Amino acid sequence: MNNSEYLEKDFYKVLGVSRDASAADIKKAYRKLAQKLHPDANPGDKTAEERFKEVGRAYGVLSDPKKRAEYDEARRLLGAGAFGGGFPGGGFPGGTRVRVEDFGGLGDLFGNLFGGGRSQTAARRGRDVESEVTLGFEEAVRGATIPLQLRGPAPCHTCHGSGARPGTLPRPCPTCNGRGTVTRDQGLFGLSSPCPTCQGRGSVIDDPCPTCNGRGSEIRSRELRVRIPVGVSDGATIRLKGQGEPGQAGAPAGDLIVKVHVSPHPLFGRQGQDLTITVPVTFAEAALGTELKVPTLDGPITLKVPPGTQNGRVFRVRGRGVPGAGRKHGGDLMVAVEVAVPEKLSRKERELLREFASLSDLSPRTHLGVE
Ligand SMILES: [Zn+2]
Ligand SMILES: [Zn+2]
Repeated sequence: MNNSEYLEKDFYKVLGVSRDASAADIKKAYRKLAQKLHPDANPGDKTAEERFKEVGRAYGVLSDPKKRAEYDEARRLLGAGAFGGGFPGGGFPGGTRVRVEDFGGLGDLFGNLFGGGRSQTAARRGRDVESEVTLGFEEAVRGATIPLQLRGPAPCHTCHGSGARPGTLPRPCPTCNGRGTVTRDQGLFGLSSPCPTCQGRGSVIDDPCPTCNGRGSEIRSRELRVRIPVGVSDGATIRLKGQGEPGQAGAPAGDLIVKVHVSPHPLFGRQGQDLTITVPVTFAEAALGTELKVPTLDGPITLKVPPGTQNGRVFRVRGRGVPGAGRKHGGDLMVAVEVAVPEKLSRKERELLREFASLSDLSPRTHLGVE
């Protein structure tokens, strides 16, 4: 339902009250009707449901003193003074015609009354364009500038989007004086619509650009360089303002939204700003302690593993994760130690381990109480 349809409705009639009804009368009338027409009381009755909604709309306006005054005023201006409903075809007595512009405030009045703004018939912003990139793991961690190939509407390379032959300029449309909209006299009321001469652009082109025939845009491939911020994660989106489709008639272009995929790394995993790695150690290294060489993205480091280190223990190496950027702190490298059990043993190894087992009198399973 648009505004004029709303204004056509006589809300006083809908509620069955007089135009000078008090707030209390309106409330009473609404309650009575709402009870009678409530869907619970009229299951499956479409007519009752429609009327119930209508009564709610009417009450929404008439119960608010400000909206009620605006509604009365708008109806008066519409010439529905008799409050009989319907659009009169004629005009005010004496043949005075009313245009939206003449009232200035009437448009706002519509907006205030029904919560909507005025419709934008003029130049439309360009659409957003979506694209995807797949980054290497390290590119995502360190940030990168990567080329992105796009194909789609772009500002014409000959006229740079003006639509006019190079060396000439579009001129303001004489029909609408550059506004892009015209107001047609429609009986009493002026209706705004896109200008037929310039199709809402607000300008006309006498000598169109030969490349785009005056459209100002062309389909072409273009290469963009997209700056990927440090530490971007898989699934993130990057918005490039104004890199989407060109807008109509000089309206701003849409945005380019780039969805980022990050390839996995053969060694490292990632948890937010932290990197993770699993390093196997032998039983002897875990038991006796060792110094482990651990790879990081910036070259190997030495990690001290203390004697008696348990399988799965995680060591935090500060500052070797995703670098910090802006307000984001840098992450750490989380090194998980995994005790590897040899699948094959030499005869000597077997002998030593048997001897070790016979010396070891503390079973790790005493707490189970089954020995
Ligand atoms: Zn062009
Ligand atoms: Zn025009």
